[in-house]
Amino acid sequence: MKPLKIGLDSRPNLARAMQESPTLAREVLATLMDLADESFSPDKGIRWADLPQHLHEKLTYRQLVTGIMRGTLDAREINPDSFDVLKAEVHPLSYFADRRSALDNSVRYARWRAHFAMPEGMPIDEVAIADIFRKLLRYARYVDIGALKQALESQQIASFRGLGERAVALLPMIPALRYQQKLFDDLHVGKFYDAVGAFDCGRLPERNDGKTCPACERPGMHHTDNYAICLDCNAGFRKEG
Ligand SMILES: [Zn+2]
Repeated sequence: MKPLKIGLDSRPNLARAMQESPTLAREVLATLMDLADESFSPDKGIRWADLPQHLHEKLTYRQLVTGIMRGTLDAREINPDSFDVLKAEVHPLSYFADRRSALDNSVRYARWRAHFAMPEGMPIDEVAIADIFRKLLRYARYVDIGALKQALESQQIASFRGLGERAVALLPMIPALRYQQKLFDDLHVGKFYDAVGAFDCGRLPERNDGKTCPACERPGMHHTDNYAICLDCNAGFRKEG
């Protein structure tokens, strides 16, 4: 096949980078080309190129991917108010770096693995970063960002307590958390099966019909080889062991 030609007339930043830092410019281009190839990989379950139309009929690939890149990479837009002072520190992934104390200049070890619930010894690479964003996405589905923002703005603590009794009762995952508390104890509440993105609700009870969720009693359980997961309250149940 003929090699692709890339026009630089309408891409002044890239044109300049090709002159000033050609190695970096080539790495950026090669990364995006590899991702273009991966976008058509049939191994994804749903190909990335087809995903937008599965999410919403009017959503395009350009909108989805541009939004993801800008949303995660525009450091200034994450916190415009403090960006001038903190620079890249406003980015959640700046947790990767050791932090210097402003008081005595000592290096404080940043516990990013604990913060993001990652295994000991996990290296910083594309696997770790994909895992962190996956976790954020799973939680984002169950946290009412509007209510959380209001709670923060009215100086309430950044926890579900700040959302108020009523908002808490309306959170879709409450049945799963109640089930965890009833079957285990308070310390177990919120425990998560990272592999499937569902709350750890122990073994699937033997008397369960495989359809009704033991936690919220609604129908519609999704089955994998090893887990049953409720799509309503996000309760997860092990099938073995
Ligand atoms: Zn449920």
